[in-house]
Amino acid sequence: MRFSSCYIPTLKESPADAEVVSHKLLLRAGMVRRLTSGLYIYLPLGLKIIDKIASVVREEINASGFQELLMPMVQPADLWKETGRWEHYGKELLRFKDRNERDYCLGPTHEEVITDLVRGEVRSYRQLPVRLYQIQSKFRDEIRPRFGLMRGREFMMKDGYSFDADIAGAEKSYKLMYDAYTRIFKRLGLKFRAVEADTGSIGGNFSHEFMVLADTGEDTIAFCHDCDYAANVERAEVVWKGEACTEACTGACPDYEKVDTPGAHSVEEVAAMLRVPAKAVVKTMLFSVDGKPVAVLVRGDREVNDIKLKNLLKAQEVELAGAATVEALTHAPVGFAGPVGLDVPVYADLELQGATDYVTGANAADAHFRHVDLRRDAAITAWADLRAITPEDVCPRCGGGIELTKGIEVGHIFMLGLKYSESMHAAFLDENGKEKLMIMGCYGIGVSRVAAAAIEQNHDENGIVFPPPVAPFECILLNLDPRNAEVTAKAEEIYAMLRDMGVDVLLDDREERPGVKFKDADLLGAPMQLVVGGKGLARGIVECKDRRSGEKGELSADVIEEDF
Ligand code: ATP
Ligand code: MG
Ligand code: MG
Ligand code: MG
Repeated sequence: MRFSSCYIPTLKESPADAEVVSHKLLLRAGMVRRLTSGLYIYLPLGLKIIDKIASVVREEINASGFQELLMPMVQPADLWKETGRWEHYGKELLRFKDRNERDYCLGPTHEEVITDLVRGEVRSYRQLPVRLYQIQSKFRDEIRPRFGLMRGREFMMKDGYSFDADIAGAEKSYKLMYDAYTRIFKRLGLKFRAVEADTGSIGGNFSHEFMVLADTGEDTIAFCHDCDYAANVERAEVVWKGEACTEACTGACPDYEKVDTPGAHSVEEVAAMLRVPAKAVVKTMLFSVDGKPVAVLVRGDREVNDIKLKNLLKAQEVELAGAATVEALTHAPVGFAGPVGLDVPVYADLELQGATDYVTGANAADAHFRHVDLRRDAAITAWADLRAITPEDVCPRCGGGIELTKGIEVGHIFMLGLKYSESMHAAFLDENGKEKLMIMGCYGIGVSRVAAAAIEQNHDENGIVFPPPVAPFECILLNLDPRNAEVTAKAEEIYAMLRDMGVDVLLDDREERPGVKFKDADLLGAPMQLVVGGKGLARGIVECKDRRSGEKGELSADVIEEDF
């Protein structure tokens, strides 16, 4: 491509409203423009980067046996009503009516649509697994769209979905995606980590996030030096910092007790009661008022919260402190299915309901319980404090050293279990002709966020330093003096040669001062720069520069082909 005929509107200054470096540089490098809050136009170079990322994603996801399809972005409300997410998803779901007053939404994710497709097609176990994905614009009416492509309202996502006949199959699908994601982020040249994560509004049994490591990341990751434990702190076991308990659970603190919890059940018992895999049950908890149990809670699965909690409580003849409590438990901002620390809103709510005594149970197998006498104010302070936790606050499984670091969530894979297949009745007949529900997984990559994350991790004071697979060009060729016939002839010759060699090259043939060209070349971030100028040619050389190291060299103007 020739710079003179490309639309690459670079800017000298960063626009004032851009806060993070990727947003500033994407604007300055003429890659994106803002339409309005959270909505961006991908200019030709920006689109080229998105396409390059998408093609790596496609290759690896195809290689793992998933097939691409394309679903409508507009989705009928009826499907969302079936899963209950029409009510529960919150304001990120943009709802609207068509001319016939029917309710629709813009897809923030596609579990409902794909489950509807598959339940209509699959009858027998012989048709499973079904493994599909798409790459498409998503819309989420984010409360705080910010940081350019990092948190847009409309953004590009790869979303994949798997339907399996049994848990072993579902685990295989999950592993295929875990491995594909690992290959994708490696190939893209990014420093990343897979971490255990909370399942959020997608729900399901367990999940992993893929985090690009960067100081500007919005997420905090805890990882252990001595074992392979790594988790988003949203998910990590956070040692309680409330009023009564300030120490880690060593047993030394008077507020920590080993207690027998009448009515609490082992993970296996709870799993059996709920007819879910034991894996779905992360923990059991007991809440009590005046020593009387008020709720046995199961953590780890919103499906359990929404559909089965009430039944479980009824079956166990456990009273609830009040209907509002169920509501709070089920629909608390982060949900009680979250980690200990994030259960604060639940504790706070129970406090309001008159509960005085909480026992949060670890997995009954290790019979290790914490007693927390929590005052509401402490709950709220601690809730805020979670944003500022330190390594000492997290309980490593192996007892090793924990480090905290910042990350950008670029991918997220979920073991959904029966969450959608149960509410939407996605069933099949097994070998014995018996009806069973499909076991689902879903798998997202924020393709446009990856572009921003790559820049957050790879830049310097002069601009972007793209990892080669993400760069819009492999090489920028600078013609420093387009009016000089000899320089132009050499630049054109090298340009033609590089193109013949299949190198993705941008020829800067603009009538601009060399200083402008050098600055733009650095800004755009192509890994390699070649500079053709009168002075060099007089010595029979062309200059080259490695964008990342800044290292300069000279190539003979004649033998350049062999140098590549
Ligand atoms: P976040 O925690 O950042 O809000 P999420 O957990 O809501 O993300 P998922 O539902 O897991 O997002 O969606 C899959 C992927 O889509 C995320 O891992 C992320 O890379 C990307 N993504 C989510 N929201 C946005 C957004 N507003 N802008 C750009 N990419 C996004
Ligand atoms: Mg989100
Ligand atoms: Mg998230
Ligand atoms: Mg996520």
